[in-house]
Amino acid sequence: MKAEPLIAERATGEWQDLDARHYLHPFTDFKSLAAEGTRVITRADGVYLYDTEGNKILDGMAGLWCVNVGYGRKELADAAFRQMQELPYYNSFFKSAHPPAIELARRLAALTPPQFNHVFFSGSGSEANDTIVRMSRRYWDVRGEGERKVIIARHNAYHGSTVAGASLGGMAAMHGQGGLPIPDIVHIEQPYWFENGIDLSPDEYGLMAARRLAEKIEEIGPQRIAAFIAEPIQGAGGVIIPPDTYRPEIQRICRHYGILLIADEVVCGFGRTGRWFGCEHFGFEPDFMTLAKAITSGYQPLGAVMVADRVAEVLIEQGGEFHHGYTYSGHPVACAVALTNLRILEDEDLVDRVRKEIGPYMQKRWAGLADHPLVGEARGVGLIGALELVAHKPSRTFFRDRGRAGTICRDHCFSNGLVMRAVRDTMIIAPPLVISREQVDELVEKAWKCLDLTARDLGAGGA
Ligand SMILES: *Cc1c(COP(=O)(O)O)cnc(C)c1O
Repeated sequence: MKAEPLIAERATGEWQDLDARHYLHPFTDFKSLAAEGTRVITRADGVYLYDTEGNKILDGMAGLWCVNVGYGRKELADAAFRQMQELPYYNSFFKSAHPPAIELARRLAALTPPQFNHVFFSGSGSEANDTIVRMSRRYWDVRGEGERKVIIARHNAYHGSTVAGASLGGMAAMHGQGGLPIPDIVHIEQPYWFENGIDLSPDEYGLMAARRLAEKIEEIGPQRIAAFIAEPIQGAGGVIIPPDTYRPEIQRICRHYGILLIADEVVCGFGRTGRWFGCEHFGFEPDFMTLAKAITSGYQPLGAVMVADRVAEVLIEQGGEFHHGYTYSGHPVACAVALTNLRILEDEDLVDRVRKEIGPYMQKRWAGLADHPLVGEARGVGLIGALELVAHKPSRTFFRDRGRAGTICRDHCFSNGLVMRAVRDTMIIAPPLVISREQVDELVEKAWKCLDLTARDLGAGGA
């Protein structure tokens, strides 16, 4: 017997009409989407999405970088169901806690690099970064160096969309709306060799890009700098993978000036690079890590801040009350799902699989896309990758009208059963970690076909 549907079924047009009338989507031009009609996804399984039109779509983005264990995991649904019956909600404000939050704190302390033994929970990655802004400044206050307020971030970084998250981020379009960034947040160059360093070797460029940090510190005054924040690999900024020389130099500069180093691991965390965390892939030691997204594989909203001992000890021993927290800090259902998600990642050896097997396989196939006439560079690590679409391949020249080719390609992908996202003219992917070799083949073959269709459109319309 088929169960009564949870939400009444409607035809596509009816959903689109209701959507246009009532639903303001994130990062969306409301009016043009209403005219076009939204795509309505109804269910998903493994690496595939299904929409109301009966289309089956390979999700090359794991939702929004989060569904690492793939869709349709009964174990996660079961964990949520059981925890909701046991204790659906309680807060951790007034000298209270509950087993799921305590147990997850213990697990994360064990799983993360050795300097991390404490965690602060939030409901999202943006909120976690807000917490870090508050906590890093508080740390310097408690140490008697309250002048240290400035946080240095990078152009095109993405750290979320709350007021502090968007300020830390380096997205010009976001800063252009609502008077951002807030005071005492500044930005330096992103280590984007293909755009900024093509005349240098990647190693030379990596050092140069890292030294922008030292230059900015000197410009502002070292005694005013609280922290530097960066994603190990910039995700939404276009999968910007720093040259090998970048990270060690960044670490050296942070240590030299004694400033806190924040790794926003929201995209890289939980296996994306083939290590549990991006900082382990690149070999650096942050003082804070931002976690979210794949911490629950997206099955529940949850964020977390890992706090290194040197910071935690000061806040615990000398800080008194920390006046900050969220209603859903350590939400029991989200924590129960996270614990089960971590168990799946471990039991199925998914992180090692990315490092040793499926990651290298995908990177080999992905690199083959560099042979396409439209592609100036194909890059990647583990199960994350990017293609640079260019107007002129031999000279690696970008299109004049940046963003157009990317949008055309992204739309072809969707129509051909593949989610591949466009950032300007950079095509990016980050599929679920459970993707099979055959599904990688399907992804790469569809990508090639859509590059052909894009080239055809651009040829017709001119570059
Ligand atoms: C998505 C993302 C965030 C924000 O997380 P939300 O859960 O959307 O608030 C922060 N940092 C990075 C690197 C992200 O990719």
